[in-house]
Amino acid sequence: MKIVMLGAPGAGKGTQAKRIAEKYGIPHVSTGDIFRANIKNGTDLGKEAKTYMDEGKLVPDELTVRILLDRVAQDDCKNGYVLDGFPRTIPQAEVLDGELKKLNEKIDFAINVDVPDDNIVNRMGGRRACLKCGATYHMTHLPPKTEGICDSCGSELVLRDDDKPETVKKRLAVYHEQTQPLIDFYSKQGVLKTVDGTVDAEDVFRAITDILDKN
Ligand code: ADP
Ligand code: ADP
Ligand code: ZN
Repeated sequence: MKIVMLGAPGAGKGTQAKRIAEKYGIPHVSTGDIFRANIKNGTDLGKEAKTYMDEGKLVPDELTVRILLDRVAQDDCKNGYVLDGFPRTIPQAEVLDGELKKLNEKIDFAINVDVPDDNIVNRMGGRRACLKCGATYHMTHLPPKTEGICDSCGSELVLRDDDKPETVKKRLAVYHEQTQPLIDFYSKQGVLKTVDGTVDAEDVFRAITDILDKN
């Protein structure tokens, strides 16, 4: 099963992708997590990606596509994966499509987690992220068991550099301009499923599993 998560920054894609990955036994592939791991380790890729990320801009397609294709070519992705934060532009989606076609494969579901911009700005200030395992929490909506510590791996939680309100607004503008057109792209392929992302994370997950289990 190959799944793409669509939705604005902060819509809850990562939160849901982690749960999907666990329930269906497929890897959670997040380009944002891959970039942040590279920044943390001080690699050249990380240094380049950081200049764009800190500005709320997208990392160039060429670089992003290369990273993603390398990742999904790995053994653990043989039976499918859930992509979180990729594709983010039409050219990225087209390259992925082309690569899948060569293998006689396709994206089975594009899950659009729908949350209005007003809710997003509110949510991001409270987001805390684990840079080690990629888990995210929210100070009031989804708090960790111990304040400031990741439930999954015990690392310290941080406020991401790009989650400051000014950068969040820029990321939302970039989303509407470059990523939202993907809703139409996957709708035309007949694989788009939209869920209400404003309800509790548990309820969002139930809506998603209903879709995945029924189809
Ligand atoms: P969020 O979960 O808040 O949407 P991500 O972790 O997915 O954020 O992405 C953080 C940043 O990493 C993006 O703002 C962008 O700069 C970069 N990035 C991640 N994925 C992509 C992608 N597919 N194309 C271009 N840039 C990306
Ligand atoms: P994305 O990957 O789309 O950027 P995240 O999964 O990181 O989004 O979620 C963004 C923030 O909102 C995090 O702080 C997360 O804990 C919180 N969150 C996720 N889902 C919900 C929900 N259904 N209701 C309230 N807050 C949520
Ligand atoms: Zn962690």
